[in-house]
Amino acid sequence: MNIHEYQGKEVLRQYGVNVPRGKVAFTAAEAVAAAKELGSPVTVVKAQIHAGGRGKAGGVKIAKSLDDVSKYAEELLGKVLVTHQTGPEGKEVKRLLIEEGCDIKKEYYIGVVVDRGTGRVVMMGSEEGGMDIEEVAAHSPEKIIKVVVDPAVGLQVFQARKLAYDIQIPAEQINKAVKFMMALYKAFEEKDCSIAEINPLVVTGGGDVMALDAKLNFDSNALFRHKDIVELRDLDEEDAKEIEASKYDLSYIALDGNIGCMVNGAGLAMATMDIIKYYGGEPANFLDVGGGATKEKVTEAFKIILSDANVKGIFVNIFGGIMKCDIIAEGVVAAARELGLDRPLVVRLEGTNVALGKEILNKSGLNIVAADSMADGAQKIVSLVK
Ligand code: ADP
Ligand code: MG
Repeated sequence: MNIHEYQGKEVLRQYGVNVPRGKVAFTAAEAVAAAKELGSPVTVVKAQIHAGGRGKAGGVKIAKSLDDVSKYAEELLGKVLVTHQTGPEGKEVKRLLIEEGCDIKKEYYIGVVVDRGTGRVVMMGSEEGGMDIEEVAAHSPEKIIKVVVDPAVGLQVFQARKLAYDIQIPAEQINKAVKFMMALYKAFEEKDCSIAEINPLVVTGGGDVMALDAKLNFDSNALFRHKDIVELRDLDEEDAKEIEASKYDLSYIALDGNIGCMVNGAGLAMATMDIIKYYGGEPANFLDVGGGATKEKVTEAFKIILSDANVKGIFVNIFGGIMKCDIIAEGVVAAARELGLDRPLVVRLEGTNVALGKEILNKSGLNIVAADSMADGAQKIVSLVK
């Protein structure tokens, strides 16, 4: 789960990570009031969306007066911001962070992630922080320094100190940087983050070390023990279909393609996406209806797929083990009746109660293309949507 920058900074502040003073605003009037309260000579008006790259897209404005704050707030609120992380459709700005302007001496990068290779938490740092960190990672990876954390003891002070030196934090700020890194790691660990990225981390003209940006992601499997974090969820930022799917406990992830997939089991779902791609198609989603799905759950799943206007055809690929083929068939038929099936549907069923499942589909009067195997089904749906 993802949260906004201003929320991330609040979480980090609780752990003693140094962040600028700031306040969220939903209207231009609130923005001006917040700027008045901050009373800093320079105020920064920052678009709050669940995506980075805002600076380059015009989503971070430096205001020198309250009039400026008002003007920038008006300009940004309601604007669809397109950054290199939003995709071409962009994201509408509905909240702003009004923050005190910071006198930046130099920008650095600090990121904490779970490294799947080592199976450990890794803290990364670079002296080339700021808006071009992707370029640094691509063209001069040696400028990104990594520290692997032993989970038994956590990040050690000597490791943080070495990282601070390696990324060229000035000698006078080393202790502050170490304190910053230790606090950041503690927040990451205690809140079950999957990412904590500070870009930029800055050394200020006044000699402080501070997080000017904060991106926190949380492991959704651990959210049950972080009620405070769950409250920060902003449904406006999430895919409506994914929200709907989560209500029914379906594992659904929207993708960019045009072939809707209904599958049981995560492994088969992955294999189905692969085989669609192999035959030249693009999956519109990942969907695992799970082992013990009911007819209602299958119906909802099918409705979610049909509600996606990008979906030009549907491939149902079910191996009935725990899940029975007749339940799937009933769900498909119920949803198709309710919503009207106006797109090609290819079905491949195998396993428990397969004969009954096929009979339900055949008798439904729906226009269904039967497939004998995964490969056959994938080829059929790919050619039907083309
Ligand atoms: P993004 O990563 O989405 O582009 P950032 O929060 O990193 O957004 O902001 C982009 C740039 O704007 C930063 O690299 C920094 O130079 C500047 N900036 C951000 N916040 C402040 C601030 N409070 N004071 C001064 N400059 C800022
Ligand atoms: Mg940033």
